Amino acid sequence: MTRPSRRVWVFDLDDTLHDASTHIFPVMNRAMTQYIMNYLNLNEDDAHALRRHYWRVYGATMKGLARHHGVDPAHFLHNTHQFPDLAQMVVQRKKLRHRLQRLPGRKVVFTNAPKQYALRVLGLLGITDIFDEVFSVESSRFHPKPSARGFARMLKTIKAGPADCIMLEDSLPALMTAKRLGMKTVWVSRKLMKPNFVNLRIPSVLALTHARL
Ligand SMILES: [Mg+2]
Repeated sequence: MTRPSRRVWVFDLDDTLHDASTHIFPVMNRAMTQYIMNYLNLNEDDAHALRRHYWRVYGATMKGLARHHGVDPAHFLHNTHQFPDLAQMVVQRKKLRHRLQRLPGRKVVFTNAPKQYALRVLGLLGITDIFDEVFSVESSRFHPKPSARGFARMLKTIKAGPADCIMLEDSLPALMTAKRLGMKTVWVSRKLMKPNFVNLRIPSVLALTHARL
């Protein structure tokens, strides 16, 4: 059994620690489609389809654009994560800070989003100080989840073994990698099914208690 002191809670950010789907993703998706239209000279429908295709294949639109079109990942991420109205877009959840504080062990964020955006969201949620590390897509050297290379770099950075980690995610491909590496997996989802590589499914991060893992 993992000793509590060695346990590391590895949190995804968007749609895990907060609801990004309602206000943030629609704006982000439009910004990404617009970027693809501008830089690859595509019409809106084709740009939209390409964005979704790369997101499905690579887990991140950025990776497909970098690999197949020579797009600079940093330039793409900077241009698609501006959000001047972010304070009105982040959905606050009462008790989130309290719930996180009660979890024994270290907590880190592991996100496919850029660092500056992640820090802004965490700041608005009032939980920045809870985390020992905010491991962003730049930290992964642009090997976003579900890439095992990104996971390996994250584990090295936080100086933890996979057996010490509990990965909390809304994305199943990322959880599949986590499980394959030897982590425990918590799927944050309201779906009723539970794949066999998921140890626990919870409808919201607020439902998390360490007693159940
Ligand atoms: Mg997510």
